[in-house]
Amino acid sequence: MPQITLEAARSGPSRQGADSAYDYLIVGAGFAGSVIAERLAEGLGRQVLLIDRRNHIAGNAYDHYDAAGLLVHRYGPHIFHTNAQRIVDYLSRFTQWRPYEHRVLAKVDGQLLPIPINLATLNALYGLSMTSAQAEQFLAERAEPVATIRTSEDVVVNQIGRELYEKFFRGYTRKQWGLDPSALDKSVTSRVPTRTNEDDRYFTDTFQIMPRDGYTRMFERMIDHPRIDLLLSTDFKQVRHAVKFRHVIYCGPIDEYFDFQLGRLPYRSLRFEHQTLEQERYQPVAVVNFPDPEVPYTRITEYKHLTGQTHPRTSISYEFPCDDGDPYYPVPRPENAELYKRYRALAEQTPNVTFLGRLGTYKYYNMDQVVGQALALYRDIEAQSAALPAEAGLDA
Ligand code: FAD
Ligand code: UDP
Repeated sequence: MPQITLEAARSGPSRQGADSAYDYLIVGAGFAGSVIAERLAEGLGRQVLLIDRRNHIAGNAYDHYDAAGLLVHRYGPHIFHTNAQRIVDYLSRFTQWRPYEHRVLAKVDGQLLPIPINLATLNALYGLSMTSAQAEQFLAERAEPVATIRTSEDVVVNQIGRELYEKFFRGYTRKQWGLDPSALDKSVTSRVPTRTNEDDRYFTDTFQIMPRDGYTRMFERMIDHPRIDLLLSTDFKQVRHAVKFRHVIYCGPIDEYFDFQLGRLPYRSLRFEHQTLEQERYQPVAVVNFPDPEVPYTRITEYKHLTGQTHPRTSISYEFPCDDGDPYYPVPRPENAELYKRYRALAEQTPNVTFLGRLGTYKYYNMDQVVGQALALYRDIEAQSAALPAEAGLDA
């Protein structure tokens, strides 16, 4: 992974004997860009320039040791979970793993209660000692059937009724998205199920693991390749006309690529407040959620739970949702999907550029889904290049 300067990129690939143009310019060194860079360099022998406007790799999964020596995630808690063996196999080339099952508590009515709502949540909240069957009955009596489930309000109210919806979902969602759940696609709150058993894990995926030495270390190993030149702190606009390349894979916001010519796609942002505390432990689990609309932040994360690090101090972060700032979340709602479709159509008419990743394809994807998307793109490029004569095989 030779890290190079813009000046050096102008004169082409740093690898000796390479052609003067890069085969691929890849914009964004997060999961999408790094996985496709690795595959093209290693799998197809392509010469890649990987850039990011931030001064680090790993995109939003970036982690680092803070001033106190604690491993923290700069852009909020990233927990790896997937059902796909092939994605674990692929990433295992670059990291070993540490088993970690995520548990979250929500502060509701002055109590810390498990979320997703489960049997223990209901019993603690209502001072009952129901069995699973009784809890099912309890929820069925409260559920308000909605004929056609379209929104994030419908999906929850239909399942558990208005009271629990208001306690656990409405305030959190309004803060997180700046929108009422009734204005958001059902897919958003559908990410958080309701259970009547005692399973208090946030995810039920087959694989729930964290990269043993952190995400950034995993990315370093992934893109450490003689055919990948890395250029940080550099925006696409700075290289667009300054560097020679045959094809772009763009993992930034798709509307920005087209200079917002069809209007802006909304992305929700977050402001993170990181703190180190003079105590060994702050909270009982990695993440505590705050659905209370009076509390300005949505969640507090204590990283030691995620990393397993032992240290006499502890580092936490608060998340304050906002509109302005780095684009973190595409906002799933019908009008945005419509606008994205129009950008997508524009992309299809634009030769030599492929859009990828959470921002490039405007999809609320988890990390494993982005890895899957990048590997699928690679398979397409590989298949096309096998079908074409060698020098024509670059136009995916
Ligand atoms: P990104 O990581 O956003 O990378 C895109 C990169 O492109 C960025 O580094 C950006 O600087 C760069 N870029 C953009 N435009 C330009 C440009 N013009 N020029 C140069 N560079 C550019 N997923 C999970 O699976 N589990 C979790 O627990 C989880 N928690 C999350 C918590 C938060 C707070 C957030 C925001 C996301 C979370 N995710 C989680 C989702 C995860 O972050 C994404 O799925 C993944 O990081 C997306 O990878 P990406 O490469 O598509 O995008
Ligand atoms: N959510 C909620 N209350 C919670 C947790 C989640 O209302 O305690 C809703 C909220 O709309 C959130 C969505 O469910 O944005 C998805 O939650 P998830 O934890 O998957 O969000 P992410 O980790 O992607 O920010």
